[in-house]
Amino acid sequence: MTMDEAAPKECFVCAKHQGTTLMPGGPVWVDELVVVSHLSPRAPGAPGEVYLGHLFVEPRRHAPGLPDLADAEAQSVGRWCARAARALRQVAGAEHVYAAVIGDSVPHLHVHLLPRYPGTPREYWWDRVDEWPGAPRGGEAEAASLVEQLRASAH
Ligand SMILES: [Zn+2]
Repeated sequence: MTMDEAAPKECFVCAKHQGTTLMPGGPVWVDELVVVSHLSPRAPGAPGEVYLGHLFVEPRRHAPGLPDLADAEAQSVGRWCARAARALRQVAGAEHVYAAVIGDSVPHLHVHLLPRYPGTPREYWWDRVDEWPGAPRGGEAEAASLVEQLRASAH
């Protein structure tokens, strides 16, 4: 199976993997099967400023969802979810890391990893964690700086 045969041009995730403009600071980590990146302030629906630490773990191949992963891809996705969560705790100070697969609008698997920072009020936990007004947010430069620190951290 080649990547080309299953990479529709209009897929946002496939397009993102082709370049770096939608990955602030570049990919956080990559291996032969998976790309880990930070939410881009240029992504559709992102308001120019993003919740810092909102990461994605994505297979390179255009696999729509978890049931479509080959075993090796699943192992790599799981490993990078754990490593990225560990880095968010160590580098960004997350007290907890949420993981979710939603995929209602982009049919290329992307596991959302969302840190919860200390002090987040209970009413913002889980799916509103990035709406807390006190949450750390930033544009391209702040996201890229966090990515650099995450990348440099041991995993
Ligand atoms: Zn794709």
